[in-house]
Amino acid sequence: MQKFSPEREMTKIRREFGEHGGVSPSISRSSTFTVMDPKTMPEIFTGARGPHKGGCFLYSRHFNPTVDTLARELAAMEGTESAVCTASGMAAISSTLLQICKNGDHIVSSDTIYGGTHALLDQLMPEMGIETTFVHPENLEAFENSIRPETKVLYVETVGNPTLKVADIPGLSKIAKKHDLKLVVDNTFSPMMITPSIMGADVVIHSLTKYINGASDVIAGVICCSKDFVFELMDLHTGRCMLLGPTMDARTAFDIQQRLPHLRVRMTEHGRRAMAISEKLQGLNVDVNYPGLTSHPQHELITSMINEGYGYGGIFTINCNSTQKAEELMDKLQNKERFGLIAVSLGYFDTLMSCSSSSTSSEIAQEKQKRMGLSPGLVRLSIGITGTLSDRMDQLERALREVGMI
Ligand code: PLP
Repeated sequence: MQKFSPEREMTKIRREFGEHGGVSPSISRSSTFTVMDPKTMPEIFTGARGPHKGGCFLYSRHFNPTVDTLARELAAMEGTESAVCTASGMAAISSTLLQICKNGDHIVSSDTIYGGTHALLDQLMPEMGIETTFVHPENLEAFENSIRPETKVLYVETVGNPTLKVADIPGLSKIAKKHDLKLVVDNTFSPMMITPSIMGADVVIHSLTKYINGASDVIAGVICCSKDFVFELMDLHTGRCMLLGPTMDARTAFDIQQRLPHLRVRMTEHGRRAMAISEKLQGLNVDVNYPGLTSHPQHELITSMINEGYGYGGIFTINCNSTQKAEELMDKLQNKERFGLIAVSLGYFDTLMSCSSSSTSSEIAQEKQKRMGLSPGLVRLSIGITGTLSDRMDQLERALREVGMI
């Protein structure tokens, strides 16, 4: 287990008070900012002067004080020098990859990733001359053997969506350093729990839409990285975040910032419940997959990577073997037992469940789904923190019994 404490790091950064000493920061809604000394304008445009370097905030597609406050907190949480907040997780992923890769470049990616990211790498980026080779995330040799002279990025999700396969971040980081590549990690499933940057990841991405916001009411993302990479992304003339415009709104930044202080409490509780329920399911001989179970093939690996005290995450999967059985189970769980909601996404305070193969991974062809270990009957459950744990266990057990799975 790692000794890094995201909470401690988050308390070290400067506290932002609101106007009149408000305990909550004020929302800075200006789209443009006044340059007090006209002579500084040219230097602001070259990047020689920035909001924290003798310049000022210029324009909110570049930097905005409220969004910048959230970015600093997320950088502290992820142990990176800096961060850029974006309008969605996909905006964070596409801006990062298009910043690093140009026409003719190549990426080696895990094959078990969110369907939207898979489509970006497999369908859209090849149209821009950027190819991707997909390999199993647990196979370090396959990553290294797929590297070509034009490879620029190794791409993984810490805990892969939806198979929950775990990437060996220290192992991948060694390979990335040896071949002078960037290791880009999507850490959406494991905020606070795992800190990829301390194990050598160069860029850490989140869909803030999920656990970090936690209320399923905003779409947002973040790129946590070095100061140099932020300057590249934000270069007024060439930066992908400037030219593609994946900008986060100040009000969204404020909303997310208000929920960050209880992220630890939520993650710990999501993890405690997911562990208890998956242990119970294992005892009932249900085909359950959860990284916290010793039966998970990479349980030891994830245990060596997690920060102490946050658990193993709030997501497990149940293999129902067929789409029909998966739908029957979800129907009972939502419409009879009120156990949770049939909805895509994850990290909400209530339980969300979906059949990944025909929903969030439907961009991936069936035969590729099979190769990545995704069965058509796999139900992904993002376990919520509402209701009592014992009631939730009873509801789940009853539904499993009714559909004949136990
Ligand atoms: N990364 C992962 C692991 C996801 O599950 C998702 C969405 O489900 C994304 C990225 C995309 O995030 P967003 O919907 O915020 O664009």
